[in-house]
Amino acid sequence: MRTIGHFIDGSRTAGSSGVTGEVFAPDTGEVQAEVALADAAETAAAVQGAHRAQAAWAAWNPQRRSRVLTRFIDLVEAEADDLARLLSSEHGKTVADAHGDIQRGLEVAEFCTGIPHLLKGEFTEGAGTGIDVHSVRQPIGVVAGITPFNFPAMIPLWQAAPAIASGNAFVLKPSERDPSVPIRLAELFVEAGLPPGVFNVVNGDAVAANALITDPRVAAVTFVGSSDLAHHVYKTAAEHGKRAQCFGGAKNHLVVLPDADLDLVVDGLVGAAYGSAGERCMAVSVAVPVGDAIAEELVGRLAERVAGLRVGPSSDPASDFGPLVSAAAQKRVLDYIDLGVAEGAELVVDGRDLKVADHENGFFVGGCLFDHVTPDMRIYREEIFGPVLSVVRAADYEAALRLPTEHEYGNGVAIFTRDGQAARDFAARVQVGMVGINVPIPVPVGYHSFGGWKRSGFGDLNQYGSDAIRFNTRPKLITTRWSGAPGGASDFVIPTMS
Ligand code: NAD
Repeated sequence: MRTIGHFIDGSRTAGSSGVTGEVFAPDTGEVQAEVALADAAETAAAVQGAHRAQAAWAAWNPQRRSRVLTRFIDLVEAEADDLARLLSSEHGKTVADAHGDIQRGLEVAEFCTGIPHLLKGEFTEGAGTGIDVHSVRQPIGVVAGITPFNFPAMIPLWQAAPAIASGNAFVLKPSERDPSVPIRLAELFVEAGLPPGVFNVVNGDAVAANALITDPRVAAVTFVGSSDLAHHVYKTAAEHGKRAQCFGGAKNHLVVLPDADLDLVVDGLVGAAYGSAGERCMAVSVAVPVGDAIAEELVGRLAERVAGLRVGPSSDPASDFGPLVSAAAQKRVLDYIDLGVAEGAELVVDGRDLKVADHENGFFVGGCLFDHVTPDMRIYREEIFGPVLSVVRAADYEAALRLPTEHEYGNGVAIFTRDGQAARDFAARVQVGMVGINVPIPVPVGYHSFGGWKRSGFGDLNQYGSDAIRFNTRPKLITTRWSGAPGGASDFVIPTMS
């Protein structure tokens, strides 16, 4: 059996803890490899290596650091087909979707090639007589990243690219479900010229994660995963004096006003709710048609499309979506569908009994559509993370606006309408971090930034974009006067710039 180890100090290393986890092939349900799960000592060794490498890396001028990222992007692009197949084989998303996972990560690396410009500080000449003030942003040291299974290329790159571009060293603990792509990305970083120790991958579970977030040499923690863990990591990192940004789960609504272009809505919903088997933090899991007339038509059209979805092996280009990541994820989703039925929602399309020919043990769940879901039901309140869309009918616009606004999650939301004023009002008042107007999955481009509100995000700086540069650096303010400048008498009064 193949064993996936770690990537520390510039090379692959075998695990020494003696503890391993199983990596499945979700298409078949078979165990395809085992992954080393680091203990606290191995994790500490990776942090030590990063700590050693960081100062020399920070001393590279920012253009040189930028050039490493440019070469890295080229190397990843040249290998994108192989990487996408590898990613798909462990995650279960289609190869086409895996390409998107890689591409959206590279877009952030591309933004970070602008680091010479992004790190420029400010200067005030003559802030007082003979006195100048300038500010610089300096790296913070070692940054740790902990990532979820659902974007094993994109989220590690969202975290690592701004961290290392800013002059930090980075220790990534990726998801133990699909660990191979992060290890390959680490090799490509070194091939691109990144000094050993600047980007490290420690595979593991809660043990490695907690070793990172409590290690005194780690200055900041960036986490993406489910909300309870995001909250735990945020609190623990803060208790240990670290900067933290922790992103959690979601329940993303798509509101359909009566004047919406229904073709656009149905197309958007099918892709956003069922793409990647619904295992996206920006997946739409709740459709909110306003008024019964549009609800009837929407449910009728969706039912036909959902029943016709091609669910099959992730490696088959004909599949609309593939299996879930694990047997545990499959059971969890099936349990939620049973729960929805028990709670009284109407299961219009039932994907529970789906069997994929020649892949009977794969972790598949067919597309499911619930109608007449109400806000008190657990299938509405909780994140299912599977190919399940719930329709919650709203009597009017205000009732529709209240649903995402009052939900405990606040990651993404969308409204479909032809009415510009209604869309504008919605965007202004809804209590959610990312809003799409006739756009079902409003993941911002790499030079803006990504972050949810409420229990979808803990911390005040978003992922990627200029927020990420702020997260990964700290400002230093320098006030200067040279000898020969006017003034200079000692004074016992707090200095003012007169
Ligand atoms: P998860 O919370 O189970 O795991 C996330 C990471 O936390 C993994 O690396 C895991 O090993 C680690 N971990 C496990 N136990 C830990 C502990 N006790 N302390 C610290 N870390 C621990 O999430 P998942 O199932 O891998 O991913 C799906 C979840 O991620 C969903 O809730 C999804 O909405 C969320 N997600 C959010 C975003 C976002 O940007 N808001 C993006 C992608 C995914």
